[in-house]
Amino acid sequence: MSHALTSRQRHIKAASAVDLGVLYSTISAGMLLIRRYLTGRGVDQEFADRYGSAFGRTAAKIYRTGHGVEPRRAWSNVNGKWRRVNGYLPTETETLDEAFTTYKRTAEYVLPAAAEPAPAEVYVKEAGHYPAQFADLNGESLRTIERASSTEAVSEFVKAQLADLDTWQRHYEQYDRAMVGEVDQAARAAVQGLPWDDPQVQTLLNAERGQTEIQQARDILNAAYVDWSFDLTGTVEIPEPARPASPVIAEGCRIPGCDGTWHYDDGICVASLGEVRFEGEDVALPAELVAPADGPRHIVAFAYNMTSLNFRREMRDRTSARTFVGQLRALGDAIDDASAHLPAAS
Ligand SMILES: [Zn+2]
Repeated sequence: MSHALTSRQRHIKAASAVDLGVLYSTISAGMLLIRRYLTGRGVDQEFADRYGSAFGRTAAKIYRTGHGVEPRRAWSNVNGKWRRVNGYLPTETETLDEAFTTYKRTAEYVLPAAAEPAPAEVYVKEAGHYPAQFADLNGESLRTIERASSTEAVSEFVKAQLADLDTWQRHYEQYDRAMVGEVDQAARAAVQGLPWDDPQVQTLLNAERGQTEIQQARDILNAAYVDWSFDLTGTVEIPEPARPASPVIAEGCRIPGCDGTWHYDDGICVASLGEVRFEGEDVALPAELVAPADGPRHIVAFAYNMTSLNFRREMRDRTSARTFVGQLRALGDAIDDASAHLPAAS
């Protein structure tokens, strides 16, 4: 007997050193309390304080009928005093929902906030799907799009993602602007004491994380784009860029680029393809595309020095034109390589 007394005194001593608010909140964590349930349903605080007890009795009666036992007890701070009240587990919400429609005053209560959903709910409804959209995005995702379609498809895809990020940002800013003053207080009060995995808590947390998640998504998209742009895997063959559209063929001509100079004298169309100039003004290597009225079309490159047209090279088919181009390119490349041995400027 004396032993039990000592033990009890020790407990009382220990308890006096404990912050009761913290202790009671811990004991009651995760329990749904009547007043908090009511404000969570959008009932205003004054109504909850005034009719909370009567609503609580209705709920307890329903619980007793259904479970055959008394509801659990939890601690609640009512008007600055800690009191033992009935508490319900999140799995027992049905009891409270039933009481809400059974108890006359709550059943007839017109929700003031019913027309306007909470800012966090609006945000999650509009933007809640975005984090998953960006979560698995990487360079390989973009390469997959490119292989399946084209390089342009990747640009289009990235553009669409950027547009989504802007939309997402707008939704977050709407949420941020809405969460001020009373709305903000009410939103936070509504989730106080609710368990971590309660949908209401998760909704608020998701909205609160919005700006961080948008930044993360931007970083993910950016990293994917950089990975794809500087692709070193060599797994994607990028098609050559499209050639510029062919010039329009003038009326009365047979080839594009002909200015008609040789129509009347020789009946031929001639289009200049440009020239390589040599030292002095009077020596050049021009190339032309020629289309006679009769006879095969050809490209001709010829040395021109005012007095002679002796050095010619005619190309009558694509293979011979390509062979000549190959030689010009090879010479161009060789000059380019050899230029490494020259000073940058003289
Ligand atoms: Zn012509």
